[in-house]
Amino acid sequence: MGFDVDLFVIGGGSGGVRASRMAAATGAKVALAEDSRMGGTCVIRGCVPKKLMVFASTFRELPGEARAYGWDIPDGHFDWTNFRTKLHAELDRLEGVYRRLLDGSGVKVYDQRARLADAHTVELTDGTRITAKHILVATGGRPERPDLPNAHLGLVSDDIFLLDSLPKSILIVGGGFIACEMACILAGLGVKVTQFYRGAQILRGFDDEARGLVAEAMRDQGIDLHLGTNIVEMAEAAAMSGHAQDLATEAGITPDLLPVTGEKGCPVWVKATNGTESVYDAVLFATGRTPNTLGLGLEELGVTLGRRGQITVDAYSQTAVPSIYAIGDVTDRVNLTPVAIREGMAFSRTVFEGQPTPVDHDLIPSAVFTQPELGTVGLTEEAARDQEPIEVYATSFRPMRTAFAGSNHRVLMKLIVSQATRKVLGCHIVAPEAGEMIQMAAIAVKMGATKEDFDRTVAVHPTMAEELVTMRSPTRRS
Ligand code: NDP
Repeated sequence: MGFDVDLFVIGGGSGGVRASRMAAATGAKVALAEDSRMGGTCVIRGCVPKKLMVFASTFRELPGEARAYGWDIPDGHFDWTNFRTKLHAELDRLEGVYRRLLDGSGVKVYDQRARLADAHTVELTDGTRITAKHILVATGGRPERPDLPNAHLGLVSDDIFLLDSLPKSILIVGGGFIACEMACILAGLGVKVTQFYRGAQILRGFDDEARGLVAEAMRDQGIDLHLGTNIVEMAEAAAMSGHAQDLATEAGITPDLLPVTGEKGCPVWVKATNGTESVYDAVLFATGRTPNTLGLGLEELGVTLGRRGQITVDAYSQTAVPSIYAIGDVTDRVNLTPVAIREGMAFSRTVFEGQPTPVDHDLIPSAVFTQPELGTVGLTEEAARDQEPIEVYATSFRPMRTAFAGSNHRVLMKLIVSQATRKVLGCHIVAPEAGEMIQMAAIAVKMGATKEDFDRTVAVHPTMAEELVTMRSPTRRS
């Protein structure tokens, strides 16, 4: 039976675009549907605009540091409107690059929403039906608000990049990647940040010592971090009377001047689990993301979905329906752009190049772009200790650059080593540019380097990362 195309990809994010280009390069006839902007979460409302905001936010400390180094420069003022205009021009440029790449690869793009009509047919919003030998679902995920009355008043991460103006104060709910990164970014841009995290320490799943140091640094940066705390009630401040109005005035907001809008991003009165009541200019929910599987027609065809709505796939990203594959955040494996790209490449090799390629999800490095950053690869001390006897090599110190300027900022370099094999099981770095450092360390860890391999490597002096090859005695054994 002849099909209209060899591959139909649903979703034009990092994973979908890479898979479609690789498949097209083998001579396959490929089409792709995207109902929003090309580039997906990473390019349009995630990694890229976030990192540009990280850069913007780090300039706040620089004038003070420069003065300590003898420069005669005043503190500056951040202009959100100016930055946002440039930010969106850059995102437009990148979206154009993605479109041109697809075009150049011969991939036919449909700017429409697609759903599956049967195991080999995709239906677009305008009713067009396209048959495909293989269908790849790469629809990503979306931010999820908690199940709480009036939660619609809160912003989600997508909204931050589109704000007309920065709020004066914000309550960020959550303790994961997005909550912590946004807390540091917004504090750096001059917003008064309060953060509620329901657990005992932010960044659950990361190394405890590293989490602790990041939390300490965030507090030093002026972030009012409340652990073991959540929202119990929220309402639009302007619609409240009495006590909430007083709280708003205290917070520098004049609620009687505000129209009641009932719209997200408005000033919000919040009651916390610790009993306190406050009014914030805005609330941001960074309470996790959910896979985009709704309305795709997957379950009707026999594709299995997990508890969170994620598509269940095997090691080759194949679903329970043999002609349908899925990659990236929609499968909720490791939700990172480079992983989605890897999954897309492995899919193309498996299906279009005749080389069955399982995706290697082992020892994936990642970074949280807080200030300082947290870079990590491999096992945490806690997980490694549960697995086997280990040695921990760790050092925390004030780095030269900021120490000279009188700052108490500390960094952490930490290696987890197997007592039996001497292999470095995990590396955790809390430091400015830890994302850059962990990328390099991850090569050694992925290659199975031992502590002695690290020790044989000559230090680059004077750097922060040199500590990774100069730690002689274990801090502890367990
Ligand atoms: P995470 O799953 O990392 O964090 C969600 C946070 O919200 C957790 O702290 C969670 O608490 C908390 N939470 C969940 N539900 C509720 C609730 N009902 N009330 C209060 N708190 C709640 O999600 P993010 O949205 O931060 O990020 C999503 C994914 O995106 C990440 O896992 C990561 O893979 C990716 N990402 C990667 C980045 C990077 O590489 N730098 C940057 C940003 C995102 P608890 O811990 O108790 O569950």
